Amino acid sequence: MSELLQYFQSQKQQMVDLLTTLVGFETPTTDKAMVDKMGEFMEAQFRDLGASSVTRIPLAQVGDCLLAKWHEDAPGKPIMFLIHIDTVWPLGTLAQRPTRIDDDGKLYGPGAIDMKGGITIVLSALRGLKERGEMPQRPIWVLMTSDEEVGSVHSKAALMEASAQAGLVLVMEPATIDEELKTMRKGVSTYRVDITGLPSHAGNAPEKGINSIIEMAQQAMKIHAWNDLRNGTSVSVTMVSGGTATNVIPEHCSFHVDVRTVAVSAWKDIDAKLRSLPDTPFVPGAKLEVTQTNGHQPMERNATMQKTYAQCETIGTKYGVVVTQGSSGGGSDGNTVAAMGIPVLDGLGPQGDGLHALHEHVVLNSLPRRATLMAAMLKEWQFD
Ligand SMILES: [Zn+2]
Repeated sequence: MSELLQYFQSQKQQMVDLLTTLVGFETPTTDKAMVDKMGEFMEAQFRDLGASSVTRIPLAQVGDCLLAKWHEDAPGKPIMFLIHIDTVWPLGTLAQRPTRIDDDGKLYGPGAIDMKGGITIVLSALRGLKERGEMPQRPIWVLMTSDEEVGSVHSKAALMEASAQAGLVLVMEPATIDEELKTMRKGVSTYRVDITGLPSHAGNAPEKGINSIIEMAQQAMKIHAWNDLRNGTSVSVTMVSGGTATNVIPEHCSFHVDVRTVAVSAWKDIDAKLRSLPDTPFVPGAKLEVTQTNGHQPMERNATMQKTYAQCETIGTKYGVVVTQGSSGGGSDGNTVAAMGIPVLDGLGPQGDGLHALHEHVVLNSLPRRATLMAAMLKEWQFD
């Protein structure tokens, strides 16, 4: 065991206390006031940890973002931690399911694994380096966002602007249940298709109507045939609404499509096919409009990812931390950063399970291991 790992193991109780404090802030994405309250706590933490600047990025509808920097004038590209403080849990969840630790050393609580555990690791790694007088003289950034759980709609501009300047982005989303990093994430995109037909009396003149539901039904079958599950592509029609009365040929119908792919090429292929739906209606005269409502390109296990992961694994080995890799079917901000061509590692948060579920928990023994890995990467990371 490395001396650094020993040190962080001696800090485990402080890490558990910090995690408990963070879970104590209820931060549903849609409650700006509550999210900003935790933002204030985070700003105080960053300042206490010696940040050379903390910039507030105000957002009207969701909590403000923060960009904290250490040694911003030092040479070299920044290493940037990416954290989000919002959770999927509504206010009052904590009263129903208070934080508890079971006999196996798992901490349960709303938002514990996604991602207050990851935030605990970042703050603890920085604190450890500071207290040991080992804070490396290189630019270190932490970007704190507030709406990841709804697709980072509001924070995406800040996320992309900061990531573009970074040499390495470390996404503190939870590790897999086996404590693996996530070096591959499926792309996720959602679309809405609006169909406009022509209303007509279903009894007196059905032939004069343009039936938007019949158009929808055929388009849905066509889209469904694009599924290629063997190659990791799923295309699912997930919601539909249309029609106004039982005796009216329906003028309007809309439906939603959820697309997930492993490969960027498949992601682009399905996107192009969906966008060309309006060119070939089944029902003569039906008009279609396709809108992408959300989108994250796949994070591929490409050459950049493999190289970035390899360096992380080497550093881990040097400090007595076993690093392994897995994948995820869900998207994160890591997808956005990877699509920009910026080296990124994801799933650097603690081991645990139950994201967005009632059994959400953090395996507490993984906290010192991950804090060691983060501190070691800050000390050792080499850019080309
Ligand atoms: Zn998350």
